[in-house]
Amino acid sequence: MKLIGLLGGMSWESSAEYYRIINQRVRDRVGLLHSARILMYSVDFGPVERAQLAGRWDETGEMLADAAKRLEAGGADAVFLCTNTMHKVAGAIEAPLSIPFIHIADPVGEAARAKGWKKLGLLGTGFTMEDRSIISGRLEDRFGLDVLTPPPEARAVIHRVIYEELCVGIIKPESLAAYQAIVADLAASGAEAVVLGCTEISLLIRQEHTDVPLLDTTALHAAAAVDFALKD
Ligand code: GLU
Repeated sequence: MKLIGLLGGMSWESSAEYYRIINQRVRDRVGLLHSARILMYSVDFGPVERAQLAGRWDETGEMLADAAKRLEAGGADAVFLCTNTMHKVAGAIEAPLSIPFIHIADPVGEAARAKGWKKLGLLGTGFTMEDRSIISGRLEDRFGLDVLTPPPEARAVIHRVIYEELCVGIIKPESLAAYQAIVADLAASGAEAVVLGCTEISLLIRQEHTDVPLLDTTALHAAAAVDFALKD
């Protein structure tokens, strides 16, 4: 089994989900007492979040590239960055690596393609919803998908809930109701499925909460890690 490199801590609430999902899938596929071989480098999210707000993305790219190199030096066979937003600096992270960097948008695009969906809604941080260099551009350019984002007021609600609640372990029923309404609106605007394009969102809204098909980046990226680890 290959060694999965997780670049986490953004936030640790979602990195814990990656750890759980990857281990559960290995147990299901390999056998009861089996678990994944994982090396995790978990950063302090505080300075990363401050740099995001200040637009100091180059600095975050250097910080995360250094962490990814440490994963490689520790023997990881591939790097999985456990946050959508920080894929803004995927290029800087990937460039110095000689092991694969598995982009979080790719398993999402593959899942949509397998279902024959063409138009997807996207929830995520304000950065992810507004900057196509993070994931929507890749979904459009590599997978031929159309990506719809919610209107500005809804984007502000989604963003606030991620940083003020989900990243600090707070789950509120009123926030779930707000997300459910936004998902329904995206479907009414033509989205065949909605991408949970932030790795904390599935802590709040899951498939049992809506009839609209959801594509959860955390679960899909974690599943891609397991497929990679068990290949050959
Ligand atoms: N985990 C989040 C994401 O997937 C947000 C936290 C961050 O800004 O990295 O976008």
